[in-house]
Amino acid sequence: DIERLKRPDWIRVRATHSKAFKDTHDTVRAHQLVTVCEEAGCPNVGECWSQGHATMMIMGEICTRGCTFCNVATGKPDALDLFEPGRVADAVAKLGLSHVVITSVDRDDLQDGGAAHFAQTIRAIRHRTPATTIEVLTPDFLKCDARALETVVAARPDVFNHNLETVPGLYPTVRPGARYFHSLRLLQRVKELDPTIFTKSGIMVGLGEDRQGVGQVMDDMRAAEVDFLTIGQYLQPTPKHHRIDRYVTPEEFAAYERAAYGKGFLMVSASPLTRSSYHAGADFAQLRDN
Ligand code: SF4
Ligand code: SF4
Repeated sequence: DIERLKRPDWIRVRATHSKAFKDTHDTVRAHQLVTVCEEAGCPNVGECWSQGHATMMIMGEICTRGCTFCNVATGKPDALDLFEPGRVADAVAKLGLSHVVITSVDRDDLQDGGAAHFAQTIRAIRHRTPATTIEVLTPDFLKCDARALETVVAARPDVFNHNLETVPGLYPTVRPGARYFHSLRLLQRVKELDPTIFTKSGIMVGLGEDRQGVGQVMDDMRAAEVDFLTIGQYLQPTPKHHRIDRYVTPEEFAAYERAAYGKGFLMVSASPLTRSSYHAGADFAQLRDN
């Protein structure tokens, strides 16, 4: 079924064998880090790693959720590695990152959903490389009390990202275990707790949504004062994952981008290969400099 649709020319995965790519690879391995770039089989890995950009995935490789678009294994995760925040901070220093994106699996097995571990990772990076701007891409902390989110916000990341992933009507098949309005409220709550933190969210398209639905999600995000938006093409990792509905054209992405700026987002990335962390550093630096 995955072969049903031919990949269009605009979805190109470029392999790379550059020295910079290898350096990033070696640093990731040496610090025993997990990256979403590899776990998700991201098509941009050649480009990003050649520039030293890797998105670290903390708290293990096994997730307690089973989102149907996601390639990460579902199961019972290992205990938290208390040395991980330090290793992440060392890797950020070694890679010389001016901006880093930290994400994680979902940890419904932990009382705080891993919030304290996120906060420690933020603090470790701040301590080691104070000039590096930090973006966190967090789970929804659905089963936790309010303190979990407050703990992450109190560590003051520069950008707080939480993806809505898709339109509300597709949640039961795409994000079972998550709740659209809970995720939206989480983004709004970050702004209420600390208005100096930029908030960011994203969706995938090509899952079966329609344009009106995407427009509604944008409106919902703006009502929750979300600052940055990413929209990218869903790519079905294996035949067992959620079925790809279609490839959205570059022209349609451009129209989404224009519509999003029209609705007041400060920064928008909408293109076939846009991912949550794609060009995140360069875009954020540009925004700050303007
Ligand atoms: Fe990694 Fe993000 Fe780049 Fe993909 S877009 S390779 S996940 S940094
Ligand atoms: Fe994948 Fe995140 Fe869903 Fe876990 S919560 S299955 S890591 S998208």
